[in-house]
Amino acid sequence: MHDFNYNGKELYCEKVPVGKLAAKFGTPLYVYSHKTLVGHFLKLKKAFSDIRPLICFSVKSNSNLSILKALLERGAGLDIVSGGELYRAKKIGADAGKIVYASVGKTKEEIRDAIRAGIFLFNVESLQELALISEVATVLKKEARVCIRINPNIDPHTHRYITTGTVDSKFGVDLDTARIIFLNRENFKNIKFAGLHVHIGSQITQVAPFLAALKRISLFIDGLRKMGVPLEWLNIGGGLGIIYNQERPQTAEGFAAKVVPILKKIGLKVILEPGRFIVGNAGILVASVIYVKDTLAKRFVVVDAGMNDLIRPALYDAYHEILPLVKTEDKGRKSEDRKKTDIVGPICESGDFLAKGRDLPLFGPGDLLAVMGAGAYGFSMSSNYNSRRRAAEVLVKGDKFYLIRGRESFDDLVRLEKAIRL
Ligand code: PLP
Repeated sequence: MHDFNYNGKELYCEKVPVGKLAAKFGTPLYVYSHKTLVGHFLKLKKAFSDIRPLICFSVKSNSNLSILKALLERGAGLDIVSGGELYRAKKIGADAGKIVYASVGKTKEEIRDAIRAGIFLFNVESLQELALISEVATVLKKEARVCIRINPNIDPHTHRYITTGTVDSKFGVDLDTARIIFLNRENFKNIKFAGLHVHIGSQITQVAPFLAALKRISLFIDGLRKMGVPLEWLNIGGGLGIIYNQERPQTAEGFAAKVVPILKKIGLKVILEPGRFIVGNAGILVASVIYVKDTLAKRFVVVDAGMNDLIRPALYDAYHEILPLVKTEDKGRKSEDRKKTDIVGPICESGDFLAKGRDLPLFGPGDLLAVMGAGAYGFSMSSNYNSRRRAAEVLVKGDKFYLIRGRESFDDLVRLEKAIRL
């Protein structure tokens, strides 16, 4: 599942002791395993080899340039959602012909830049957006390829904040609207209608919602074909769940075994947009214990990483396993020292926690711990709240390690600000 393992009492990332990285680069620190990252991409590629889809890594899940580069070098395309993500893609020389662009709020400027860059296609989320893409493409005298994002109204049984394919969510268009768009396709100048896109949510652990969405889309495609609408591509999005705790998500092979026969029957070229599946278990967040505070109610272990570094627990009540970098029992502590513990950050919010009510060994000030499964939606969702500098990021490959993002400085925090006296 991943390449963070104990060697004796010490936690290693591949062949490097994580404690060594913490000593060199400080904490909070994101540490990624190259082997886990690339391994998950290749697993998916292999599982789907029968239909050879274009696999576009979802940049929002982890947008570090070295992470993107590692995947590009193995043939990945990119799924982007903003001008900033397009900028990152260009910065590393990504093949624009393998970039797909979703987002309900693409601005005119973002659309223009993406067309100029020659991206493969837009995943269009509304009639209004389609009209704007057509207008911009016409002015630029270019053709823009589009997939219409369908909202199939399928509940993926995941957290409501990462549910994106139900009727009450802002994403995509309903089937009737999509049909009207396709039937009126001649009215949209300089648009090449390539096909359909569907992404029903994230951290989906069962295959059933994917199958239900595909069934609905397949019927819809049949209808379009009967009406003479030519289609070439079907983008089935991302959303594959991973193990954070007790989940038993489908494996890449298990998922492909169920989905590929349906996709073959549909007979369109396929795009996948996984993020979490590829990078989720490839990263950890390392933190140092500052204080241990026993209160009347419980024990708080206050660490130097907070919700600004990893917001998933605060935002989604997400579970991340906590592991000591050095097994603390080995420091002569007894099992009766274990106590229900909250791991909390230094931020002035009660929602600032990384773990709640865990049965953990007694950490002491200066001890280091790892928040597991933090590779996806970890650093990429981090912020400067409480004027905290964002963490450094390190990528490990075998016995080598590379600083792939330095820790922000205090100067970074105020670089764009002015202290104006009025
Ligand atoms: N595609 C789209 C359109 C998304 O919105 C997302 C994330 O929400 C993804 C792909 C990636 O999802 P995941 O990281 O769950 O694979």
